[in-house]
Amino acid sequence: MKVVLQNLTKKFPGRGKKSEDVVAVDNFNFEIPDGKLVGLLGPSGCGKSTTLNLLCGLLKPTSGKVFFGEDDVTDLPAENRGVGMVFQNYALYPHLTVRQNIIFPLQNLKGKDKMSKEEMGKKALEVAKLVQIDELMDRKPKELSGGQQQRVAIARALVKRPRVLLLDEPLSNLDARLRLQTREEIRRIQRETGITTVFVTHDQEEAMSISDMIVVMRAGVVQQIGKPQNVYDDPVNLFVAKFLGTPPINVFYGRIKDGGLYIGDGKIADAAGVPDQDVYAAVRPEGFILDDNGPLCCGLSRVEIMGRDISVVSTHDSAENPVIRSIISSESNVNTQSPEVRFSVKPNKLFVFSGQTEDRIRIN
Ligand code: ADP
Ligand code: MG
Repeated sequence: MKVVLQNLTKKFPGRGKKSEDVVAVDNFNFEIPDGKLVGLLGPSGCGKSTTLNLLCGLLKPTSGKVFFGEDDVTDLPAENRGVGMVFQNYALYPHLTVRQNIIFPLQNLKGKDKMSKEEMGKKALEVAKLVQIDELMDRKPKELSGGQQQRVAIARALVKRPRVLLLDEPLSNLDARLRLQTREEIRRIQRETGITTVFVTHDQEEAMSISDMIVVMRAGVVQQIGKPQNVYDDPVNLFVAKFLGTPPINVFYGRIKDGGLYIGDGKIADAAGVPDQDVYAAVRPEGFILDDNGPLCCGLSRVEIMGRDISVVSTHDSAENPVIRSIISSESNVNTQSPEVRFSVKPNKLFVFSGQTEDRIRIN
């Protein structure tokens, strides 16, 4: 089922008499292709949960529309939309067993959808198998680990065969290892069921690793939509460039002068035809090349061995952050006795942004 967001806007009234409305979601337009997993990504407060609540029907938009397939569902109540929701806090009923928790959404079905006890049990077992908790059906939530509880919540969201699955930071309460494992599980379940899924997270790595497409939001406004790799390789503005990638991108205060891009005195790249101006020059950690004749001269702080790679930690007067992190092959030789290290920069790992608007300036 494709899902269409059309000029979707949600304003909340401001607190106090004169305070302005909060525009939690600002004119969101997107067509989520059928059967895809979309990662909705951005810092806390950027409008992710509000977007999800507009999709599931817990909130009504101030303006704009939501379509499931060709159906306009904007005015349809949540229970009639055929969505499954999973929240950060698993929200299981503590006094019910796993089986009873999963069956719960089936018990209120009316008319022709009404199910017998056997049918409900069968459906519950099917989804329990899918999320691999079928051995735990008679336990209570408190007898389960966080990861298992979240699987129960996912099973419960899937038991009515939803048209759309919505997950709001479902992994945030899990420890690091479980988070990794559970996100792979969510990916597998999504692939097996083919249900169009929106997965909300503030964790860029999580979104990048499992999504077919990501949407990066900031203060209610969509910044960029695309395949994770494409957004990483081709960010439209400084915000997106900084939001994706670990270690984060290295940002320098640079300038365009006479058709060249400069950081400090070093000419880092050609920028023929670009008007003179102050810019941000941002380099991915993997974009530095050790080069004794390179234009970027940094103060060498230390070298960290990471096995396959080494991380050179350095400083530069024009860098926005106190340290610059570059990731280079462990086969390279860094003279750790030297106070300096020189780099050249890979053109496809270097992005230039306007010093005024922070929008991308293409230099090649
Ligand atoms: P996220 O999920 O990305 O952290 P939210 O969608 O929860 O962000 O919130 C987006 C913005 O809308 C925030 O500024 C938040 O304070 C505001 N907001 C969310 N819900 C309400 C509400 N019910 N009333 C007023 N403001 C709200
Ligand atoms: Mg939220």
